[in-house]
Parts: sequence; C-alpha cells; structure tokens
Amino acid sequence: MIKKSGLTVTAYMVLISGMFLTSCSSFTNRPVEKQSFNMGTIITQKVYGKNAQKAVDEVIARIQEIERKMTINAEGSEIDAINSMAGKEEVNLGEDTVYVLECAKKYAELSEGAFDVTVGPLVKAWGIFTDHPRVPPQDEINGLLPLVNYRELSTDSKKSSAKLSRQGQIVDLGGIAKGYTGDEVIKIYRKYGIKSGYINLGGNVVVIGSKPDGKPWSIGVQNPRAENGKYIGILKVIDKSIVSSGDYERFFEKNGKRYHHILDPETGYPSESGLISTTIVSDASIDGDALSTATFVLGLDKGMKLVENLNGVEAVFITSDKKVYTTPGLKNVFTMEDESKEYKYVEKR
Ligand code: ADP
Ligand code: MG
Repeated sequence: MIKKSGLTVTAYMVLISGMFLTSCSSFTNRPVEKQSFNMGTIITQKVYGKNAQKAVDEVIARIQEIERKMTINAEGSEIDAINSMAGKEEVNLGEDTVYVLECAKKYAELSEGAFDVTVGPLVKAWGIFTDHPRVPPQDEINGLLPLVNYRELSTDSKKSSAKLSRQGQIVDLGGIAKGYTGDEVIKIYRKYGIKSGYINLGGNVVVIGSKPDGKPWSIGVQNPRAENGKYIGILKVIDKSIVSSGDYERFFEKNGKRYHHILDPETGYPSESGLISTTIVSDASIDGDALSTATFVLGLDKGMKLVENLNGVEAVFITSDKKVYTTPGLKNVFTMEDESKEYKYVEKR
C-alpha cells in the first residue's frame, strides 16, 4: 500500500498570530485563502492585499498551464512528447519547459548525477505513483540503470527544443517542477502588488514579504516520523522559498522495509544516504526543489558541502539517527521546537 502523505502539506504553516490577526484586523486586511488540487498535491494560498482574489485566480490558471506542459502522466504534454520521441527526434517546447530542463541539468552537474531527471525509467519500474508499487527484480534494475543519464538529454534554448538520445529514456520533472511553479506564482503575486502571502505546493512553501504585522513567517519543519503537521523546528523567514524532501512523503512497505520515492540514480534503489529529510531555504524555489532532492541522495557530508558552496542557500538536514543539522546561515533563522523530544540539534558543522 502506498501512502500518499504528499497529498497533505509537509511544511506546516504555523500561524501563531494569524488567529489574533483575523479577529482584530479590518475587513480589507482579510486574506484570500484558497485550496486547490493540482500537480498531484493539495495547494494552499493565503494572500493579503486588495488584488488578492485576482492574483489567487491567475495563480491557479498558471499552475494548470505548467502542469499541462510538464506532467509525465498525460499524453500530449511537452514532457510526454520528449519521452515518446526518445532516440528519434528533437521536440519543440515552450520556453518554460526548456528553462526547467536546463536548470535540471545544471543541478545534475552540480550534484554529480545525484539529481537526475532522466530517472524516469526507474520511477516507472518501481510503480511509485501507481496503486501497485513493487520492488523490481535486480536484473530489471540493471537493465534500466544505463538509461538514466542526464548527459543524454540535450537542450537548445535558441531553438527551444530538447531531445533524449536513446529510446526508452524518460524525463520525470517530479523533483523540480513544483519549485519552478512556486517562482512563477511569486511573479504573479508581485504583478498584483501583493506584499504579504504564501503558497504551499504540497510541502514546497514560498512566502512573499512578511506577515501583515511585519514579522517573519513561521514555517515548521515536518517531523519525518510523526503525523503530518507535527514539526521538529521552526524557520522564520521573509521573501523565501522553503522546500523539503523526505522518505516519509511517499512510500510503501514490503517485508518490513520502507521503499520511498527518491531514487539513487547510481543504485536504482530508493536512496539510503542516512538522511530522512532535507529542507532547503533559498530565494528561488526551483533551486530549493532540485537541491532538496539532490542533497537527500548525496547524504549529510556531500549535501552540506554542496549547499555551503552556493550563495544564499541554507539547509536543515535530519539523519536516520534523529540528529538535526543546519548550515551556519540558519543560526538566527531556525529554532528547534520538537514536541516529541526525540531529535537532537547539532548546531554547526
Ligand atoms: P516531492 O515532490 O514529493 O516533494 P522531491 O522534490 O524530492 O519530492 O521529488 C521526488 C520526485 O522526483 C520523485 O517522485 C520522482 O518523480 C523524482 N525523482 C526521484 N528520484 C530522483 C532523482 N534522484 N533525481 C531527480 N528526480 C528524482
Ligand atoms: Mg525536489
């Protein structure tokens, strides 16, 4: 049985003063709150400002547009076109898709292949998004591994096109598309003059400005071994993206073993790097999304190194022995608030 806790939010919005605000704020200060279901997940928006309703509606239309182009699950999407033409023809694409593919290749290089959107054949073999996930036989995995290679995905931004080298190769943007979408949403909020709000795309949170009272937004980091909404710590942020990846988001169990949805392109198995949760704090959500998946596969040491070499990117890593590590830049941003008392904060590495 697969557990789709990706359907609920991963990073829990802790709106401590939110309730207080609604009771004492004027009518015009009331936010527009909207929930929708897209990209296989629940999407929540909370937006303040006089154009909030227009912004929220346009955001939903934009999300649907991106989903139509980038989904792997529908015939006729741009990603479906690349995959069906694998080994045959170059495919013309919209600017959006080429941009996301190029960004994905950049993070594949930076992570030495830990993040690789050509992981599609493996995702399919494991049946991660089906009602019948399975552990593929080793010889099947061995046969698919050579197909996973981001170097065989060529893109041409001038011609706005892309091509996979060999038949059977599959691009899957599940690890990056929601991040791109978050950035596009913030562009729309800005266009409408929104100064305060957030969107939560199934655990990918992007906040604009601060809370209406000028204080930073408080975003909880999900306790990876507790029910949804239980957190181990709080991030206080203004104008940031917070993206988490974890082995608790989507998984099935067989013979007492947990098989989750983030695959190690080297082994073909769900990654076992010792990390059970990664959270990236960054300006651009596309960076956060790619990096949360990449660092999850890389593990604590390599993941920490990667993030520390990037400007303006911070991280919270949780290991399977329940230790919480953060980058030094989060010293005044992250505080442990762990009701379970099971997690231990390791201040600085
Ligand atoms: P979520 O979208 O559940 O928050 P992630 O952003 O970590 O989680 O992305 C996981 C998804 O990305 C998987 O469901 C799969 O579609 C795809 N994926 C799995 N392993 C990798 C990988 N090593 N590199 C890139 N994408 C991956
Ligand atoms: Mg990701």
